[in-house]
Amino acid sequence: KLPPIDGDFYEYDLKLTFEERAIQMKVRNFMETEVEPIANEYWKRAEFPMEIIPKLAKLNISGVAYEGYGCPNLSFVMEGVIAEEIARVDVSISTFFGVHSGLAMGSIYLCGSDAQKEEWLPKMQEMKAIGAFGLTEPNVGSGVAGGMETTCKKVGDEWILNGQKKWIGNATFADVIIIWARDIDSNQVKGFLVKKGNPGYKAEKIEDKMALRTVQNALITITDCKIPESDRLQKANSFRDTAKVLRMTRAGVAWQALGCGRGAYESALKYTKKREQFGKPIAKFQLIQNHLVEMLANLTAMKAMVYRLSELQDQGLLTDEQASLAKVFCSMRTRDVVSRAREVMGGNGILLEYDVARFVADAEAIYSYEGTKEINTLIVGRAITGYSAFA
Ligand code: FAD
Repeated sequence: KLPPIDGDFYEYDLKLTFEERAIQMKVRNFMETEVEPIANEYWKRAEFPMEIIPKLAKLNISGVAYEGYGCPNLSFVMEGVIAEEIARVDVSISTFFGVHSGLAMGSIYLCGSDAQKEEWLPKMQEMKAIGAFGLTEPNVGSGVAGGMETTCKKVGDEWILNGQKKWIGNATFADVIIIWARDIDSNQVKGFLVKKGNPGYKAEKIEDKMALRTVQNALITITDCKIPESDRLQKANSFRDTAKVLRMTRAGVAWQALGCGRGAYESALKYTKKREQFGKPIAKFQLIQNHLVEMLANLTAMKAMVYRLSELQDQGLLTDEQASLAKVFCSMRTRDVVSRAREVMGGNGILLEYDVARFVADAEAIYSYEGTKEINTLIVGRAITGYSAFA
């Protein structure tokens, strides 16, 4: 039996049904034919390929695991498999998709009223409306639960929002932006559906990022932004509700980390078989094989972890700590995988045209977003010791 080239060493794909494999291959084929040829160019220009949105929509994968509203109602395992397949080719596109389908649609799915779900989810599922999720702020990132500075205040039938949000993916072009704000009167965090074109909303693109350059992250300024009560997420009553969304999406980020590492590993493996030094392919050298095997071991451990994580999610048993542990572990391991991939490619490992340099840079963003390594570590630490070490 020949060694596998695609990083699924323990054949987890065999656990998928025929229909699930067909969806996986449809996504893989789309990513390899439509995205791979343009990925580096858009990353270099720090622009988003808007033309892929209608093509991505045709795959019918938005709102992967949600029921109703035109969503595919697949398993959370399949949501993970899809995140892995997209990230395996382009982590930026998987981040765009994760923000839209996970964070934005997920906020509406988990925290919206029936009317809000009816209004937004069908058109977001068809990607006719794109979503963004505004939680982080210029002055508060990790400490946003207790330190959120963006405020909301009810005046008559309306809410008035003021503040700033930083790093918000898709926000320069999104049709609906979920904005989280602290209620001045109750001191609780509430969520709002802010629509594109609201005169109190301004989004400026964050320039000169060194990772995920294709993703359009924005600094949002909200000035006396008026939102009707009907656009307040009716089931978001405190930060606990925001955390429910993050629990779900952190599991997806762990799969995304796996996809990022897998893309780098596959590129590096192919390269080492072609590249010759001292008259033979560098894949014949023991030290190169050591790097490749360590990469594969990390990917295989990540896959086992995220697969089980999503099985728990499918059974409704997933906890915050379990999602955090997978996010920490996979984002750390993938950093190791991409750096070994870069190493075995020598100088070409830092050239964009060989793809691995892009995975190296993008792994840094995965490492920090959706809760940094430290914050997710402290969530697990609190669970196993009973002591909160946050403050
Ligand atoms: P800080 O909170 O300032 O942390 C700085 C350092 O201090 C980190 O190492 C951190 O771990 C450490 N630290 C903080 N507190 C503690 C503590 N108690 N103990 C030990 N160490 C601590 N946010 C959104 O809302 N929507 C988005 O779409 C979005 N997209 C993003 C895309 C990218 C590319 C990036 C980089 C970020 C994005 N974010 C988004 C924000 C992201 O979630 C935050 O960057 C992240 O939560 C960390 O916040 P911070 O950058 O302010 O770092």
